[in-house]
Amino acid sequence: MFSWLTRDSQKEEVYESVIQGLKNIYKTKLLPLELAYQFHDFHSPQLEDSDFDAKPMILLVGQYSTGKTTFIRYLLEKDFPGIRIGPEPTTDRFIAVMYDDKDGQIPGNALVVDPKKQFRPLSKFGNAFLNRLQCSMVNSPVLKNISIVDTPGILSGEKQRVDRGYDFTGVLQWFAERVDRIILLFDAHKLDISDEFRRSIEALRGHDDKIRIVLNKADMIDHQQLMRVYGALMWSLGKVLQTPEVARVYIGSFWDEPLRYDGNRKLFEDEEQDLFRDLQSLPRNAALRKLNDLIKRARLAKVHAYIIAELRKDFPSMFGKEGKKKELIKNLGTIYEKLQKEHKISIGDFPEIKGMQEVLVNMDFTKFQALKPKLLDVVDKMLADDIAVLMAKIPLEDTNTTSHELIKGGAFDSVEDTNTPFGYKRGEGIDAGFGEPDWIVYKMKPKYDILFEELNPSDGKISGAAAKAEMVKSKLPNSMLSKIWKLSDVDRDGMLDADEFALAMHLINVKLDGNDLPSDLPEHLIPPSKR
Ligand code: MG
Ligand code: CA
Repeated sequence: MFSWLTRDSQKEEVYESVIQGLKNIYKTKLLPLELAYQFHDFHSPQLEDSDFDAKPMILLVGQYSTGKTTFIRYLLEKDFPGIRIGPEPTTDRFIAVMYDDKDGQIPGNALVVDPKKQFRPLSKFGNAFLNRLQCSMVNSPVLKNISIVDTPGILSGEKQRVDRGYDFTGVLQWFAERVDRIILLFDAHKLDISDEFRRSIEALRGHDDKIRIVLNKADMIDHQQLMRVYGALMWSLGKVLQTPEVARVYIGSFWDEPLRYDGNRKLFEDEEQDLFRDLQSLPRNAALRKLNDLIKRARLAKVHAYIIAELRKDFPSMFGKEGKKKELIKNLGTIYEKLQKEHKISIGDFPEIKGMQEVLVNMDFTKFQALKPKLLDVVDKMLADDIAVLMAKIPLEDTNTTSHELIKGGAFDSVEDTNTPFGYKRGEGIDAGFGEPDWIVYKMKPKYDILFEELNPSDGKISGAAAKAEMVKSKLPNSMLSKIWKLSDVDRDGMLDADEFALAMHLINVKLDGNDLPSDLPEHLIPPSKR
């Protein structure tokens, strides 16, 4: 009894214990290495408990007017505090849309001092940025399992020269490192990729596995134009993303206005289904994602330690410091090559040279530590043992998603709708006629009855052989006809009466229309005489 209840709490426990385990190994094993080599000044700030506790986050990125804000409204099926939608760049800030009992807003300056939220490190981007940051709290069931970050629309051409006054791509990078999904939005009827957008996409490098692409407003153009735009988008992405073939593109129209060209309605529905399924996987995979990110971080921290220790090794203790510092920074590439061979590290694991050189210029090399093999050992053991233990706790391929993890409410209810005629694939194929008071087969039954009579029924029934002679005319393969026969012989007496025969003919037509047949007959297709 209530087995789902116990399973629920067990799962929550597993999740809690994995998150707790991650916090522990980070603090006791990885953090000491990070601190010894000033990792936080170079790469990313120290992780706090709130980073591990945070709900899965989705980051929306795109040029202005690609429908980022509208996409959020579409998901929530309601407005959020501070929402502004329009043809001009209307969202001029980063907005973290998060759950709360009461709707409200927290301005950036207050947000970054809240210890319960994960945004504290953002204070380093300065006041100009904090004035452009806010948290919008919304009482929406959708947000009980995910948070969504809206971002300022990226401008194109002349307009983008206006300086934002803060490090926009730096902020994007900060979020990209911490979110579970990055959705890049493109406008199908205005596909131009500005320089700033290109730089933004480049800032997301290293997180390609989190990126999904939405070709939005696809209903604004016809089928042929859409194919052309899709091709152009893939071509442009190929130049900007390192692994464009990995990024999945979802074509759709994510708002609630009438479709301008509705020829692609079915495609949009399929794509929306896929996208929502992908988003549904986020709460489930949150623990795994956090674990993966910690592995990535640990590998970088190791390489970073080697680099700093190497610079330290070659740094003079007395004279010629400034000249040597310049020389070491200039020759960083050679140092990378040396370390790569010495420690058998793949070049892809090294931090980008240019960024590293920029930070090094402002660093005091005399403070750099020599190599501390013990600290590295601890991290190696953490990667080999602790991570494996935590990994084993996470159930992989978990299809038994329990209710508390699913994203619910807003558009998630209608996309996963199975009750109304407008739910996905409702009212099509085998589902045609669902919800109608009559049996849908009645429409064609007079025609099928004539056929039935021609097959010389006795006692109102025909044999399998007689039915077969008629059914093979459909040219469907025998395997399919046998399935149809089984579905149609509702009372399983090895014969078909007039209703069952009409049903068989109906199913053949459903199949010939290109629809799949289920293994069980849905209730509304059972002849009323047999219900
Ligand atoms: Mg907007
Ligand atoms: Ca029968």
